[in-house]
Amino acid sequence: MLPALFIGHGSPMNALGESAYAEYLGRLGRDLPRPRGILMVSAHWETLNSEVLDVVAPATIHDFFGFPSELYQIQYPAPIASQVVSRVTELLGNSVTRSQSWGFDHGAWAVLRFLYPDADIPVTQLSLNKGLTLREHYNLAVRLRPLRQEGFLVVGSGNIVHNLRDFSWSSETLPFPWAVKFDRAIAQALEQRDLDTLVDFKGLDVELVKRAVPSSEHFVPLVYVLGVSEIQEQVTFPFTAIQNGSVAMRSVRFG
Ligand code: ZN
Repeated sequence: MLPALFIGHGSPMNALGESAYAEYLGRLGRDLPRPRGILMVSAHWETLNSEVLDVVAPATIHDFFGFPSELYQIQYPAPIASQVVSRVTELLGNSVTRSQSWGFDHGAWAVLRFLYPDADIPVTQLSLNKGLTLREHYNLAVRLRPLRQEGFLVVGSGNIVHNLRDFSWSSETLPFPWAVKFDRAIAQALEQRDLDTLVDFKGLDVELVKRAVPSSEHFVPLVYVLGVSEIQEQVTFPFTAIQNGSVAMRSVRFG
């Protein structure tokens, strides 16, 4: 069975590559058994309901502003994962609709271009339903567990800590202590599969949560990865870093 992966994506600058991060993802893609298709859950696709991308030849969306032109040239021409679309609609029933109005956003392609640089594995995306609580996202994800047994790879792309207000443009900036604290608390909760902490932030300081997760969209993809993992599955953290002071790049791998 393929692992369930959560990948931190951080600033679009990470998509330029030639970094320890890009190397890590490249190695990971080469080491994994080849998936039949990929379900990507990106922080950058929020909708009013849960939607699954179902378009022929999805466009590469450059959904960020003011970055170097090089980033806007990047294309990720993977085919649509029709088999994953079908299975997601079967498994989620009327909790999901098919969407023709999206493509691959940068949360998806900034990760996939290093993981599978040839773009030869079919991909689809599942949107984040803005109306759901973290626990409801978790419950929805549990219903997607069969995908992994069927040879599909589930990837969440977001960040455990994502605060752009405190974001420092200097790469020299050391991780802020509150960012380290929250990132570690979540890592520990993942090791213990402590759902109350992970989906209700129970036991965590309210101010700390507000600072680390000022809005939930970058955290939610982690909840999907947790949801598709099996209760007994071991968790590992194959890549950890905090960038720009306030963005945790920790990767989470189940299985
Ligand atoms: Zn992002």
